[in-house]
Amino acid sequence: MKENSGKVYLIGAGPGDPGLLTLRGKSVLEKADVVVYDRLVSPAILGMCNPAAKMVDVGKMPTHHKVKQSEINKLLVQFASEMPNATIARLKGGDPFVFGRGGEEALELVAAGVEFEVVPGITSAISVPAYAGIPVSHRGIATSFHIITGHEKAEVGNGEVIGACHCEPCKGEAISSGNLSLDFETLAKCQGTLIFLMGIANMDFIAKRLMECGKDPKTPLAFIEKGTTPYQRTVMATLETAGETIVRENVTAPAITIMGGVVELGKTLAWKKNLPLSGKRLVVTRAAKQASGISARLTALGAEVIETPMIETRTLERPLVMAQAHDSIGSAKPVCEQPVTALASHVIASPEGARQSRPADFNSLANFDILAFTSTNGVESFFKQLLASGNDIRILAGKKIASVGKITEKKLLEYGIRCDYVPEDHTGEGLGKLLASLCKSAKDACVIASEQGERGNLIEESRILLLQGNLADDTLLELLPQATRWVVYETLPVAELPEWKREAVASADAVVFASTSAVDNFVKLLPQSTVGATSCLEAPQARPRTSFCIGRMTESAARKYGFDTVTSDETTMDSLVKKIAEYYAGEGA
Ligand code: SAH
Repeated sequence: MKENSGKVYLIGAGPGDPGLLTLRGKSVLEKADVVVYDRLVSPAILGMCNPAAKMVDVGKMPTHHKVKQSEINKLLVQFASEMPNATIARLKGGDPFVFGRGGEEALELVAAGVEFEVVPGITSAISVPAYAGIPVSHRGIATSFHIITGHEKAEVGNGEVIGACHCEPCKGEAISSGNLSLDFETLAKCQGTLIFLMGIANMDFIAKRLMECGKDPKTPLAFIEKGTTPYQRTVMATLETAGETIVRENVTAPAITIMGGVVELGKTLAWKKNLPLSGKRLVVTRAAKQASGISARLTALGAEVIETPMIETRTLERPLVMAQAHDSIGSAKPVCEQPVTALASHVIASPEGARQSRPADFNSLANFDILAFTSTNGVESFFKQLLASGNDIRILAGKKIASVGKITEKKLLEYGIRCDYVPEDHTGEGLGKLLASLCKSAKDACVIASEQGERGNLIEESRILLLQGNLADDTLLELLPQATRWVVYETLPVAELPEWKREAVASADAVVFASTSAVDNFVKLLPQSTVGATSCLEAPQARPRTSFCIGRMTESAARKYGFDTVTSDETTMDSLVKKIAEYYAGEGA
């Protein structure tokens, strides 16, 4: 093996369901420097790859230029030679050595002296039937199964060249109709299950030849389209009706054809339910850390979820006290409109010197009676900083804790903190009004807060501490002008989307928004709407038309950009997921 060359991993991505990728495959992808991937690989698996990896798409959609197999082979060798010690992942559908041309790639790597490893994948040949409830072997019905290619390159078959085949392994190479070099006589005699991959285009011919060679025309057969994905469809037929069924039902690639007595079992064993969101591709724009909850729920309902966070949040090393109206160093308006990172990290001044902030001191927590959290990020960042400062939760003893809503409340519970105040209306305004009413009762009762005084429910608004991000709006400060705001995390908009994600988003049915900033950034990243384009491929930066929104502000932001909006009744993820399911149930009705 060449010294100082990268190593290539030929990885099987499995048949489509991202859960069927092997653990080994996932761990290589997570550290890969380059990922060379095929068209059938699911976006969810691409999303598992090292975010810094160079992503190379060698299997564009049929209408686009595809990279020829010989070019892919060269590309792998080239990456390996140019990138010493790099991890190069060659990610292929199913198993790399089952009609995946992985063997050809491996031979080329050996010839070039490039070190490689094979990470097998679950082949579609057996897993796709399994997802349709068809066991490929079954005692008393089939004692063997045979995996057969349904077409070959023109130079292999003797038939007339009828055009280019766009299935994954062929990559646009010419194919012959008719005379596949298959031994139909032997296949027809074979009692085992026959499984054809890439066979849809030639199935009429294959079925006829098998019948001519004596196979029973009544042999049960199933076409399974896009198996293991949310779009899976099974179409049953017999050998004699195979060709007409493909046309009538418009069976399209990728699909496998399975023939034999075992197919009948699929009528009883089809276990994959048609779920409310089956066949829907939804874009979730929440930050990755928060998205997993909603993504898991939508996936459980059958949707294919493309996680596309619009913002990244980062905990600041130390909280920053944002200047107040009443601060001597502050401005007239207690706002921080600029991302904190755009400023310096300690005593910070904007160019006009208008807005300033300074690092917070955890000892000053003694000056506050109520800590108010407005996001799970705020909770996580605050506790991280609290521990980093050498303190622990005992410093919060006796304080009242307020949360904007149920999700933040639940997050606080993870830190062993039960909330004292959660507004009925889970918005900043709701929280602000609730806290303001506590302050009002304090004033009405003429209670003047003393440092150590016992105040019960009665507090001064200057003893309220808001724990927020740098982009928090001013709703709370407007309702509680004397409160102090600590910025505990910063939010940075995602600046670009990789090409594979743009494509996945363009073909999605809808996008889920949980904030106005997510809407704004999404539109910035994908300025073009699909409206007017006959296919999403015409508009590579296209975005879906339908949006599901949490909250009225988010809804109006989405409307502003021309989205159709469906808004949850409550500002909770549960309510939104329910709404999405209802929307599609109504669509099907
Ligand atoms: N190496 C792959 C096969 C590549 S050949 C594997 O082991 O699965 C490509 C063919 O595989 C397609 O034409 C189709 O016949 C089949 N195929 C791949 N994924 C599929 C899926 N999700 N559903 C149905 N057929 C699939």
